[in-house]
Amino acid sequence: MTSKNQSSSSNGPVLQNPLSNAPSTVEWIQHLELGYAEPPRPPTICFGCGKQASETIKLSRCGKCSVAAYCSRDCQVQDWKTGNHKLACPSYRRALTIRSPYCEDVHATIRNELFARTRFYGCPYAVFRTTDLGRGFLFLQSDQTLQNMSLYTCKDLTGRTITRSVLIHFLTLGEFDSEVCKEDFELALVRTKLKELVDGYDKEKEVVLLFKFRCGHMSLGKAMLVPDYKICKKLGQDYYAENPTGALQLNLDEM
Ligand SMILES: [Zn+2]
Ligand SMILES: [Zn+2]
Repeated sequence: MTSKNQSSSSNGPVLQNPLSNAPSTVEWIQHLELGYAEPPRPPTICFGCGKQASETIKLSRCGKCSVAAYCSRDCQVQDWKTGNHKLACPSYRRALTIRSPYCEDVHATIRNELFARTRFYGCPYAVFRTTDLGRGFLFLQSDQTLQNMSLYTCKDLTGRTITRSVLIHFLTLGEFDSEVCKEDFELALVRTKLKELVDGYDKEKEVVLLFKFRCGHMSLGKAMLVPDYKICKKLGQDYYAENPTGALQLNLDEM
C-alpha cells in the first residue's frame, strides 16, 4: 500500500526522546515473523570517523556492547562523549538479542518505545480519521528492520548512519481488505484478530495498532489513547484538517 499524499511531521512538536522508559501501554495480541531476507551487511566501519579496517587500521569493539568499533582511542572517547554512544550502547547490546526467537518481550519493548515516540501524532490522527471513516486501526509501517528501529542513535550495527521513518495510515477493515491485502497478501494472516479488535475497541479510549517492519516482523495490538480523547480530537483538528486524507510520515531521526 502506498500513498502519494503524505504530510510531513515538520509542523508538529518535536518527538519525545525514546530513552525515557515509556510505560507499556500497548496490549500486544498477535505477532508474526514473515522473515524477509536482508541483504548481507557491509563490513563495520569506525563509529567515530567512518574509516574501514585495513592492513594498517585495526578496529576494536566497545567492551560493553561488542558492537561499536573504533580505529583509535580518540574516536572511542569522542563517540562516547559527543556521539551519544553512552546513551546508545545498551541499545546495541539489546539489538544483538533480537534475532533470537525467544525474545518476544524484547520485541514488545521495542514496539512500545516506537509507539511512545509516535503516539502524539498517531493517536490524534486516528481520532481525527475515525470521525470521517468510522472504526479502523493505525497501520504503522517502518522502512527499517526492528533491529535498526531499536537503536537509540541513527547508526546501524555497522556504524553507518541511517534515517528512520514510519509511515502511518488509518484504515478501515474495508480498506484493509480491498487495498492493503491485495498488494500484500501475507497481511491476511492477522485478519481474524484484527477484525475482533476493530469491532470491539472503545473509540474514545483506545486505538488499534498494526505494526510492520522491513524485516517482516509484524504485530497487532491495542493501546490506550495518549493523549486522551479530548486532546486527541483537538490536536487532530489542528494538525490534520488541512490534509485530511494523507498518510502520516514521521522521520524519527529529525530530532
Ligand atoms: Zn576512527
Ligand atoms: Zn558500546
